[in-house]
Amino acid sequence: MVNARLRLPREPSTKRIKRYNHTRLYAGDGRYWLRCASALCAFHPQAMEGVLMTDYFGSCLCGTVSFEIKGDFDSFYLCHCQHCQKDTGSAHAANLFSQSAKLIWLSGADAVTSFTLPGTRHTKSFCKLCGSALPNTQIAGLLVVPAGCLDTELSMAPTAHIFLSSKAAWDGEAGEVPEFEGLPD
Ligand SMILES: [Zn+2]
Ligand SMILES: [Zn+2]
Repeated sequence: MVNARLRLPREPSTKRIKRYNHTRLYAGDGRYWLRCASALCAFHPQAMEGVLMTDYFGSCLCGTVSFEIKGDFDSFYLCHCQHCQKDTGSAHAANLFSQSAKLIWLSGADAVTSFTLPGTRHTKSFCKLCGSALPNTQIAGLLVVPAGCLDTELSMAPTAHIFLSSKAAWDGEAGEVPEFEGLPD
């Protein structure tokens, strides 16, 4: 359940985030509440209400673009389709998906541009200056986040490899996660 409304622990461990003037109150399971020093916090109105949340920070390679994601990811797919090979220049894309998390651009929003391959749902957002992959919301109701652009450590393991039917000849073994020839069930 995302953003479960729970009581604060009696003696929470805390960590001040100087950059954002917020304090994290850890629940003990890796999740935390955010407490804002300011009563006028544009980023975290929920923090004043004691809403348990997870958030992530990320940025592009040149540092022009930075962002925050509030909420949790539903799935994490490694896509080996030919579009993702071209797009990433690699064996596969590594994208996190969420239908509930919120994306907030913290800097460089005007340096973010997007491309959608005509006739497909294949879309990507990237930094105009350095080309780094960035989160996109081109598909209504779905936030897609390239895992590599996150600066916050991600504990979630990949859900599955997909489109292995078109994997590159030089692509190594998929490993121990579930494998699908096309889209998962
Ligand atoms: Zn950049
Ligand atoms: Zn793909």
